[in-house]
Amino acid sequence: MRYLILSDIHGNIDALEAVLEAAPASAWNRVLVLGDLVGYGAEPNAVIDRVRELHPLAVIRGNHDKAACGIDDAENFNHIARLAATWTFTALSAGNRDYLRELPTGPIAIDERVEICHGTPFDEDHYVFDTDDALMAFEAATRPVCLFGHTHVPAVFEKEGDRGGPGTPRMRGSVVTGDAVRVDIAPGVRYLINPGSVGQPRDGDPRAAFAIYDDAEGVSLVLRRVEYAVGTAQRRILSAGLPPSLANRLAIGR
Ligand code: ZN
Repeated sequence: MRYLILSDIHGNIDALEAVLEAAPASAWNRVLVLGDLVGYGAEPNAVIDRVRELHPLAVIRGNHDKAACGIDDAENFNHIARLAATWTFTALSAGNRDYLRELPTGPIAIDERVEICHGTPFDEDHYVFDTDDALMAFEAATRPVCLFGHTHVPAVFEKEGDRGGPGTPRMRGSVVTGDAVRVDIAPGVRYLINPGSVGQPRDGDPRAAFAIYDDAEGVSLVLRRVEYAVGTAQRRILSAGLPPSLANRLAIGR
């Protein structure tokens, strides 16, 4: 089975369409979405509609999804993020607001090997940036491969041995410098993998990020990057009246 892994799309339909062109339905069997479908970007309804058309096997909510549908008051958001959440709440159709409200909280186990979460398996809103965060996430993970999002930075952490056992997580240097990086999933090793953000990358590379996980012939995950029409996404943000900084950051991937 091959899974298309999408995270942090953030209302960026141009980035999502570019990903789906680079990874057409012939390239995967099922879709997993790790949260933050909306927030920041100018096309929340188009993104939700497109995701729903893919009939994902699992979609979990992210912090921006909670804020955009009114479950969370966005108290701990910064000013710009809160403006965007308020804008998104107003822009969403009633049906799509309901869709976000009903999204489950991660983590969700997909099978015996894989689980998905937004931030970490112990707290959907906690960020995994370094090996200290990764150690806590490894202790909470119930599957050898835990896929997460939230930081918008592609990352691979590995740890030998069993859950909660000794050993320091290793972080592979940041990750996708070319178009694709393959991670072979080895038995006896535990993984925390962030595919990066489709719609608002923050690792200095403006290209949309996603991953394909394949457990058919050997087990592997390929982290991918694809260019998209950043200028179009920026124009949509500006004409929606969203803060210009949200348009500017797309060009530099920060
Ligand atoms: Zn996000």
